Amino acid sequence: MKINLSHIIEGWRNHLIPSSVLKEKILEISNQRLEICRRCEYNSVNAPGHTWLSNIYEHCTNCGCPLVQKTKCLSEGCEMKRWDAVLTEQEEDLLNIDEDGQTDKVEEDSSR
Ligand code: SF4
Repeated sequence: MKINLSHIIEGWRNHLIPSSVLKEKILEISNQRLEICRRCEYNSVNAPGHTWLSNIYEHCTNCGCPLVQKTKCLSEGCEMKRWDAVLTEQEEDLLNIDEDGQTDKVEEDSSR
């Protein structure tokens, strides 16, 4: 399992403050993906012995990601290939450039 920090941030940003242009599309895509996730055996809610906490923190037991946010990251795909990314990371970055030409992408520290 490889954690992609920019995908996590993208998913949370699209969940909390989606772009007004993409808001409807993000919700539509997320709902389609969640429908698949809710039938998946890796969904914490479907895991054997799941608890009330699994319902509150619905996540993928394969990758560990919270599903509501993961499904809102347009450049993210399911590791089990059950749904695909709809944008590349570069395309998603281009959609997030503000009027000043700045992107809010978090640069990963290459010195670590
Ligand atoms: S992200 Fe993929 S593996 Fe995880 S719960 Fe959704 S469909 Fe299943």
